[in-house]
Amino acid sequence: MEKGRFAPSPTGRMHLGNIFCALLSWLSAKEKGGQWLLRIEDIDPGRSRQEYADLLMDDLAWLGLEWDGEPVYQSQRSDIYEEYFERLKQQGVTYPCYCTRADILATQAPHESDGRVVYKGTCRHLPPQPGRVGATRLMVPNREIAFTDGHYGEHTVNLARQVGDFIIRRKDGAWAYQLAVVIDDALMGVTEVVRGRDLLLSSPQQMYVADMLGVSSPRFCHLPLLCNREGQRLSKRDQSLDMENLRHRYTASQIVGELACLAGLIPTPDAISAKELLPVFSWEKVPKEDIVVGCW
Ligand code: GLU
Repeated sequence: MEKGRFAPSPTGRMHLGNIFCALLSWLSAKEKGGQWLLRIEDIDPGRSRQEYADLLMDDLAWLGLEWDGEPVYQSQRSDIYEEYFERLKQQGVTYPCYCTRADILATQAPHESDGRVVYKGTCRHLPPQPGRVGATRLMVPNREIAFTDGHYGEHTVNLARQVGDFIIRRKDGAWAYQLAVVIDDALMGVTEVVRGRDLLLSSPQQMYVADMLGVSSPRFCHLPLLCNREGQRLSKRDQSLDMENLRHRYTASQIVGELACLAGLIPTPDAISAKELLPVFSWEKVPKEDIVVGCW
């Protein structure tokens, strides 16, 4: 059985970019006769709130994007993450890291100043530091990892050079997204992950974690990002495009119609339901370039 999923973080009201991703991931799963699962990624205790989880479920139901089964909450799965985390530790492929963000930025070469921070492995070879608490990093190999994205095609990534050893557990004990997401996708039987292309580089990291844990990886299909006229990615800061605001101004089928038109599925932004889009959905119609969203 094909299984897609939507995995929002309840750290604010959903905005247009979130529901674009929800709609396309729902269509891609349902068009194959599959299930669409919902996972609430509330592992960051400082930023997640139940009220946002409730609102996002209400928003999805209002849009006609019904999920299958009960939602899974990451905050309730700490014991599971602990068990898999121990497996990695026992393989000797993790190490504690005491670097601050400032330390890490200070070791960056100028050509890496595109916002992405590559960790140089400063703490990899430190002798044991009894009593000192650090984050936990996973050692990554210095070799090319090839993968095929369902929408963007072939990619080759060298994790050591492009990402560096990455954090799987934070210093405060919170689980990192890169660890939890792999365990959950595998245990929930997810076969396809649809999400924004800002997470394209997360795929080889997640494939690597899955390999180290001996679990399977889903197929990844990344989506173009929705941007404003200045070319900046829409974010929770664009309040006029959050669901609170949109629900006051539009009906569900008007919003779905606008999103479907942006996704290239229908020629004009006419009101339509998610179900009515199933016969016209195809990945070939979805653009690869980021999508500029005009006035709403
Ligand atoms: N919680 C992540 C987010 O909202 C999910 C990313 C993913 O789909 O893997 O960005």
